[in-house]
Amino acid sequence: MTVGRFAPSPTGRLHVGNLRTGLVAWLGVRSAAAETGRFLLRFEDLDTAAVRDEHYGSQADDLAAIGVDWDEPPIRQVDRGPLYDAALHKLIAAELVYPCFCSRREIREAASAPNLPHAGHHYPGTCRDFSTAARAERALTRDPAYRVRSGQVTRAFTDLVMGPAEFEVDDFVVKRNDGTPAYHLVVVVDDHEQGVTQVVRADDLLESTSRHLLLYELLELPPPVHAHVPLVLAPNGDRLAKRHGAVNLDDRAAKGESPAEVLRFLAASLGLCSDDETVDGRPIGAADLIDRFDFSTLPKKPLTLPEDFLVPADRVT
Ligand code: GLU
Repeated sequence: MTVGRFAPSPTGRLHVGNLRTGLVAWLGVRSAAAETGRFLLRFEDLDTAAVRDEHYGSQADDLAAIGVDWDEPPIRQVDRGPLYDAALHKLIAAELVYPCFCSRREIREAASAPNLPHAGHHYPGTCRDFSTAARAERALTRDPAYRVRSGQVTRAFTDLVMGPAEFEVDDFVVKRNDGTPAYHLVVVVDDHEQGVTQVVRADDLLESTSRHLLLYELLELPPPVHAHVPLVLAPNGDRLAKRHGAVNLDDRAAKGESPAEVLRFLAASLGLCSDDETVDGRPIGAADLIDRFDFSTLPKKPLTLPEDFLVPADRVT
């Protein structure tokens, strides 16, 4: 049975790039197992300062508007603290993680020292081998974050879209120094707890998958398969954002484009239909794509939107 999910952060309206990834996640389940598969919606809302209450609803509504549905009530990570704490306790008790007292600035400075291995990218290892006494002393002045003792291993996987991939795993954070469990931990815990077998997300997280695979091992959990969907970019190559113009369903509606037309545009950009394809006189819909969906035929390159696509309705002359 295939269990998939889409896991947006409710910090704003979904833009066409988010909707495109959500569509692929949904098609991945619906095409695999029309009767027994489950598709789940999970709100990744632990970054409470960035969450906006209205976007739980707006994100669900926008997915529904393009024909994406889900099989269980959506879950919210803010309700699941005890699950994350239990996983953290397991890691701490087994000494698979260690307390890190570095500030961001200290890490930046140490990591940019030119003679260090992994300079610039990976955690430089400052707190990795502190003695118990040194830890106790540091703890007097700063609450620690917790980092995985990764041993700088690599983890390889075969991505359903991008193919074979392999990345080195650094000593990444699983609990932040403000006490919040970090994304890499909660995504693994939630996907396991929800029985997810197929993780679909945007390909800016491709490299993180090696971290997640190591965590599955440390927590002794079976890993899911992964599919990373190339990003949608603004004309200048930036990651798409609200400031780039007509990026969400309201903006598109103001330009006279219905959600069905946006869906068709996204499907065409994924190579699943033509730009003007109709079924029974209406734009081809999400359900019509199920039989033609295949992860291996999806584009592996980002989609760069043309300038004129993004011009807001009030600036169309
Ligand atoms: N919440 C993440 C995002 O919105 C997705 C994480 C995931 O799917 O694993 O980019």
